[in-house]
Amino acid sequence: MQIYSDILMDDIHLLDSESKRLLGPSSFTDEKTVRELNKIGTGIFFGGFDDAMFTASTTYDRSLEISSDGRINYQNAITSYPLFSFPEKGFVKEKSRNPNYPSFIAPYIHEYNHFIGFALQNHPLVVAEGILSNIINGDDFPAKLVNKRGNLKLKFKKTTRERRDFAEDMLALLGTMGIFDEAIALRLEDTVLSRLGYDTSKDAVMNEMKKNPAGRLFFSYPIHELARKIKNCHRITFNYQVGNNFIQDFAKIDVVKENIEKLLL
Ligand SMILES: [Zn+2]
Repeated sequence: MQIYSDILMDDIHLLDSESKRLLGPSSFTDEKTVRELNKIGTGIFFGGFDDAMFTASTTYDRSLEISSDGRINYQNAITSYPLFSFPEKGFVKEKSRNPNYPSFIAPYIHEYNHFIGFALQNHPLVVAEGILSNIINGDDFPAKLVNKRGNLKLKFKKTTRERRDFAEDMLALLGTMGIFDEAIALRLEDTVLSRLGYDTSKDAVMNEMKKNPAGRLFFSYPIHELARKIKNCHRITFNYQVGNNFIQDFAKIDVVKENIEKLLL
């Protein structure tokens, strides 16, 4: 915890209180339960269940809509419940990523880093990703999402040009949010593992992220600025208006975070 305290400084108190409030034995669950919970709410499912995972089961009512210019029409609060899943295969994969890493602990560090983003952000990226993935998976969406060797692509149904553009905008937004989310977890992981004495310089996943312009940002911030940057993700500006409209409206929605125990009651 001392390492996180050095990184997050004053925000360590927020992390500490949110960890106690939002996490309990039921927050660590398995694939079957996560699938069941996401029939009630929505989470992100593109990665599959072989990996260690942090997600948030997010609930809102059916009135939430996104218009073609990215505006979100929604007046009510959203409730989001953080969850972890650590399947055995996730630890095997970790070992193949870098044999020098402490594979028994690195997946926990990585997924907890995703939780740090969730805990520190008033408008968590993972919630925006959940909404977008729910829209994209909806029956009336103009395209189907296909996962081609880890790359998400759209397979279009018969539709109009305008709806095609909308689908592409939604996928681009989801991609950017996902990269920010992943970059935050990896930058924190890099810092924590380095301070524990592990060499992260040859980590292929981190090095790949540093090549991505959005991902590189989070590796370029001085460590004392990182907490503030994590908290301000809802102030991102995009180079396309649909992205800006979406994130501005998302930042106006009241997101309530709760322990999953409350959903299970
Ligand atoms: Zn991750």
